[in-house]
Amino acid sequence: MKNLLGLLCLLIASSQVLAQANDRGEVYAPVPALVRGVVNGAPPSDAIILFDGTHLDAWNRTADDTAARWLIEDGAITVQRGAGTIKTKQSFGDIQLHIEWRPSDIIQGRGQGRGNSGVFLHSLYEVQVLDSWENETYVNGQAGSIYKQQAPLVNASKPPGQWQSFDIIFKAPVFNETGVLAAPAYVTVLQNGVLVLNHFEILGATFTETPEYTSRCGPYSQEERIQDCSGKMPITLQDHGQSVSFRNIWVREL
Ligand code: MG
Repeated sequence: MKNLLGLLCLLIASSQVLAQANDRGEVYAPVPALVRGVVNGAPPSDAIILFDGTHLDAWNRTADDTAARWLIEDGAITVQRGAGTIKTKQSFGDIQLHIEWRPSDIIQGRGQGRGNSGVFLHSLYEVQVLDSWENETYVNGQAGSIYKQQAPLVNASKPPGQWQSFDIIFKAPVFNETGVLAAPAYVTVLQNGVLVLNHFEILGATFTETPEYTSRCGPYSQEERIQDCSGKMPITLQDHGQSVSFRNIWVREL
């Protein structure tokens, strides 16, 4: 029965594709939208700009929803110890995210205590930001890891004080109307143009002993690691108490 249903779905899907193709197998519609790509580092034409170097209007402090208070200087924002983690005012589902980051060139701590911040997709799934240049730590906690779930494929880190980039493709988890997981989240990450995570299946909220998905159709809770069943959540940048700067942050909704 299951196989029969699968075959039926396949036939319907095939007929939909074939319906759009002419007798030479060519498809002319719908036509993909025209998008101007990255030019000299400037975001694509359909990107939502989260930080352009001048203001933090797209961000709030996570703890109390007041204005984000990170230092803005020379076109970058820098974590201010104690200023707190910040989150986008807008919530997002599936996204392409570009973000540039730079650990301080003044080396103070080591391991997780050196250049630690993080990009939290849906506020719950951390792509680790860390100064991982000649800095030993657990590999599933180094830069480009999904924190305590998956080490990056390679260490693509630059020396401290240099700008680095993440290009992240995030497929949000899907929940049914009662909040039960229907499909997990997936993430692909390029660090400095190098693939470090390839369509990794996220196991659930990071920062927990046993990662799991918990959702409810109502207010989400970053503290309790509870996801909003709408499939849309803010992006969060971590204040881990160390000096890390960010710039040129943009997102495309997929
Ligand atoms: Mg971190």
